[in-house]
Amino acid sequence: MSDLNFPWLAKALSRLPAGLPAALLVSGPRGLGKERLALALSQSILCEGPSQPARPCGTCPACHLFAAGNHPDFRHLRPEADEKAEEGASSRKAPSLVIKVGAVRELDSLLSISAHRGKGRVVLISPAESLHPSAANALLKMLEEPPANAHFILVSHEPERLLPTIRSRCFKLPVGAPDASAARHWVQAQAGERAELALAMGGYAPLRALEMAADEAFWRQRRTLMEAFWRGPAAAVDLAEQAEPIQPELLADLLSMCCHDLLSARHGAQIRYHRDFERDIRNRSAKVDPRHVAQWHKAVLEFARAANHPLNRRLALEALFELAPRG
Ligand SMILES: [Zn+2]
Repeated sequence: MSDLNFPWLAKALSRLPAGLPAALLVSGPRGLGKERLALALSQSILCEGPSQPARPCGTCPACHLFAAGNHPDFRHLRPEADEKAEEGASSRKAPSLVIKVGAVRELDSLLSISAHRGKGRVVLISPAESLHPSAANALLKMLEEPPANAHFILVSHEPERLLPTIRSRCFKLPVGAPDASAARHWVQAQAGERAELALAMGGYAPLRALEMAADEAFWRQRRTLMEAFWRGPAAAVDLAEQAEPIQPELLADLLSMCCHDLLSARHGAQIRYHRDFERDIRNRSAKVDPRHVAQWHKAVLEFARAANHPLNRRLALEALFELAPRG
């Protein structure tokens, strides 16, 4: 599993005790690959070839069944909404965001009989904080008396939201974000010149940054908007039109970084984010008052705060770009 070769996952894995605990809690911020790690661990438990924790052989019959989503000794509980998103299905009824008690009770059919293939049984729950309270209680009962050869792997972005009694029954495997320079180095190697922007927009979580870097639609929208913003004589209404398709939080990030870059250029420092517009930014910075940039940054943050309100977004954007420091 070469896609698990992330230094921060290797670090987390090194904390695993030799005999895999019956219940494991893999926790940490989003975008670090916790679920991939949990899947690899699950597969390695069931693997019938030579394997190490999270390093299944990938070629034995069990690994083939697992990869095809057909291993009879494995259950993956997650909210319906996540399954639907993965399948790309659309249904008129909104999929559930919680893991229901029925899903946990159904585990009985897995846990009450011996393993089909003799390597144990694995239940992966992700994210565990989406367990409905009654589902969490049902799970707790199972964790209190785990059947022999059963493994529970819980993935959590917010472990503090789990029942303390569930947490205390799990071996804790925290996955920490790499420090900023390690993350930057890693993302730069994969994402090139998009790295810095993608990192900043992904909250410096490397896998989220990579996802951002790969979102071609977003990068097209950004380029159109940035060209108009820095180069065009575009009016506020045109900028608003180009900005509208970009998700408000991302847009606010993008524009904040414009302010950051303008002020850096003004102080003769390096342009950090919109490097592909460096010359335009340097030209602009010579013409605008830094106080104006700071004021506009405030307006951008206010826009971000109000962005989820059902007000007329186009008008809000027009008003925002009307105030922009455009020299
Ligand atoms: Zn295998």
